[in-house]
Amino acid sequence: MNFILKRKLKFYTKESLKFVGMITIAFGLIIGMIFIKYKPVYAVTLGNEEVGYIENKENFEKEVEKNVINYSAKNVDSVNIKDKPSYEFKLVSREEETNEKEIIIAMQKDMTIKYKYYEIALNDKVVEKVDNKEEAQNLVNQLKKDDKDLKFNIIEKITTNIEEIKTDKIEVAKTNISNKIKEQKEKESIIGEVKGIKLAVKPVEGIISSRYGVSSRIRRSTHTGLDIATSSGTPIKVVSDGTVISAQYTGSYGNLVKISHGNGVETWYAHTSKMYVSAGQKVKAGDVIAAVGSTGNSTGPHLHLEIRINGNHVNPQIYMYK
Ligand SMILES: [Zn+2]
Repeated sequence: MNFILKRKLKFYTKESLKFVGMITIAFGLIIGMIFIKYKPVYAVTLGNEEVGYIENKENFEKEVEKNVINYSAKNVDSVNIKDKPSYEFKLVSREEETNEKEIIIAMQKDMTIKYKYYEIALNDKVVEKVDNKEEAQNLVNQLKKDDKDLKFNIIEKITTNIEEIKTDKIEVAKTNISNKIKEQKEKESIIGEVKGIKLAVKPVEGIISSRYGVSSRIRRSTHTGLDIATSSGTPIKVVSDGTVISAQYTGSYGNLVKISHGNGVETWYAHTSKMYVSAGQKVKAGDVIAAVGSTGNSTGPHLHLEIRINGNHVNPQIYMYK
């Protein structure tokens, strides 16, 4: 009895070992076949959308960190990402390609970038934009060296609009601001305007000895200009840019310089002792064109200033010596 039992047991053991072996081989074959056809990947989901596959999660996360979360470029202050990626392990056909780069680009497109730049204001008017605070401060310090009375403000600006951060290089910014300072100073110095012609300079400083339009015993008609009395030889400056029409002795006007400024506007300077310009010469506002004298019909050294619009004399005190 025992002998038969032992033999049967031996037989079953042998058979089950064979079976286990076969199962193992089969599994191995199946797994082998799976890995021939399929590969392991991570499916990446942004928001609710599966955007692709990646091969190596750790490397990919490093790339996200570098190119998205810590994205750095000119003027970038901070970056906000809408959706953090989520990962799911998957087996996909070996023919499927992973698209790490595309996913990164998609994430970059979705991020909100805040840009920082600095505005420089001159007398509360923004005149320049630069990239950083140090640049702005440097520029202001340089400009203040030339004129310590200039009032500058540096304003930090944050924007999501990349169009706003078109900043200038420091050298360009300096030139731009210098030009704007010059422009502002010129504007401040304009003392009057005649038909669009800017009067920038008073011809002489002195005492008004006879106003426009008054009658006098020494003249047959009313006064066609303004008399400013000052010592003989005082330089006479031209009030605005223009061209010399004539510079010659003209009867009761004495030595008379006539300047044309365009738009039908002329200025006349009479009774001069010396004339330094001649007909056809171009002059710039502030140029000395003659010296005060008492030539022609005059009772003492003074400048007779006349402003003419289309040939008609007007009161100079509307425009200057107010
Ligand atoms: Zn006069």
